[in-house]
Amino acid sequence: MSGQGAQQGLVKRQFGHRARLALAPSQVMALDAQGHAARATWNLLHDWWLMLPRAKRTLAAADAVIRQGRAELEWLGVLPAQAAQAVLKSYFQAWKNCWEGRAGAPEFKARFRTRMSIDIPQGRDLHVVRVHRRWGMVNIPKVGRIRFRWTRDLPAGKHASKGHRITGARLVKDAVGWHIAFRITTLASAPALHCGPEVGIDAGIAVPLALSDGENIEHAPWLSKKEEERLLYHERRAARRKAYRTAGARTSRRLQQTYDQIARIRATAKRRREDWQHKTTTSIAEVYGTVVVEALHIANMTRSAKGTIEAPGSQIAQKAGLNRSILGEAWGRTVRLLAYKVADRGGVLAEVPAPGTSQECHRCHTVTPGSRRNQAEFVCRNPACGWEGNADTNAARIVLYRYRTGHALVPAAGRAVVRRAANGVKPATAR
Ligand SMILES: [Zn+2]
Repeated sequence: MSGQGAQQGLVKRQFGHRARLALAPSQVMALDAQGHAARATWNLLHDWWLMLPRAKRTLAAADAVIRQGRAELEWLGVLPAQAAQAVLKSYFQAWKNCWEGRAGAPEFKARFRTRMSIDIPQGRDLHVVRVHRRWGMVNIPKVGRIRFRWTRDLPAGKHASKGHRITGARLVKDAVGWHIAFRITTLASAPALHCGPEVGIDAGIAVPLALSDGENIEHAPWLSKKEEERLLYHERRAARRKAYRTAGARTSRRLQQTYDQIARIRATAKRRREDWQHKTTTSIAEVYGTVVVEALHIANMTRSAKGTIEAPGSQIAQKAGLNRSILGEAWGRTVRLLAYKVADRGGVLAEVPAPGTSQECHRCHTVTPGSRRNQAEFVCRNPACGWEGNADTNAARIVLYRYRTGHALVPAAGRAVVRRAANGVKPATAR
């Protein structure tokens, strides 16, 4: 989140910019090696952590483990020291997130299922220069000067200042290749208070986003019919090839190509989803001064199969497995985007406890388990009320109602404890 450290009406704000890197095959190999080393460093730390008693798990001891590993294993040393330090930092942060209830416990990173990434924590190492209308150059530690697509003006060279500069970057590999995500910090004047109306938002089951004023924000399917068919075709092919593979044998080139096809189609869907999220959150942040959401966190969402969806029905299967985790992930990202966009415009983002929002009638506040006729429709069981309507709109109105009746959760430090207590779970013991 941004918006801290106001000084003389200035607010420090961080944002990112992603650009595709133009790499030669040998440079791709060098980055792949660094990416694997970063992953291995994480695993080394995790292994070390699991073996030690709690009292010995200190930052200094972890640092010593990394130094020793880098000295002993040559291939681990291909990762720049700064990047190894960044792995250490994010590993400890992962535990902190876990203890504070924002995520599950850190796990080992598997070779194939992990998205490779390398941190370049110091902005001054990057030496970003614009060399052409369309191209920039960036310094990648241990790889060299690399070209990237210049699609927006970056605060580099004489355009950089103390209040507006690149403070670091992260290299990420997806199905399309290696990208660089620049981290840009800007000091901007604090925005005037946003006086727009209040709104509650529910991450709907029937619709992607339901607003308390009755608006539903939907989107077209992320993949066209044809793309969907192609994905299914490749998935079936992969399953068939996998079934006939001898155990322990290497993945064949054809199977690998099929995997690549699948990854490419999924990456397309993801790009479209993220684009939609950006557009949607921007328009919400522009219209509304106070935005209220449910404090669903991902760890919670992926754990409960039937707990969050009260009405049994065919849609439960849709929320299961991968679909459910994608939904949770998408909602988490939507909230993160909303948080900074709303803050940028002088608005407020508030979170309220989630349990029961789909069971409570917004008109008479009668709580009835299973008060949904189906996934899309809410029917109040109170005979004196009998409200019927869109279930997601009802939930969004309950979200807003909880905010108005003073149930907003305390942000920052007190957050985890308050959330847990609100969920009826014992607060975590302080560590
Ligand atoms: Zn009612």
